[in-house]
Amino acid sequence: MEIAELHTGGCQCGGLRYRFMGPLKDIAHCHCSICRRVSGGIVTTWITLPGRAFEWLTGTPARYESSPGCVRYFCARCGAHVALVTQLSPDSIDVTVATLDHPQLAPADRHIWTQSRLPWLHLDEHLPREAQEVL
Ligand SMILES: [Zn+2]
Ligand SMILES: [Zn+2]
Repeated sequence: MEIAELHTGGCQCGGLRYRFMGPLKDIAHCHCSICRRVSGGIVTTWITLPGRAFEWLTGTPARYESSPGCVRYFCARCGAHVALVTQLSPDSIDVTVATLDHPQLAPADRHIWTQSRLPWLHLDEHLPREAQEVL
């Protein structure tokens, strides 16, 4: 049995704070073009959790439906991209590792959507790759 751990995070301005229980696993570097444009970053690293393990502590996130059934949660003040829930796996929530208080504890275990990857990006080359996300 895995020991439950408590992790916290939030956006840059402090308007959104969250916490979740669980081990830091199931972490993917996403190379899709939607994450790229929403975040403004060349890759977005997500940890996938059971939705019931996660709670917002401070603030109410703004919502943006980036594709049908896929809602992204972000800070309306500072713009930080914090979480995502998709109808493809409605019992899960994805949280951006970059907004964790201790992201150094959460290394990725794979790359997803590598068919959209920028050809000049070289990052964690030893990790397994999924051309599309495998649910
Ligand atoms: Zn903020
Ligand atoms: Zn993505």
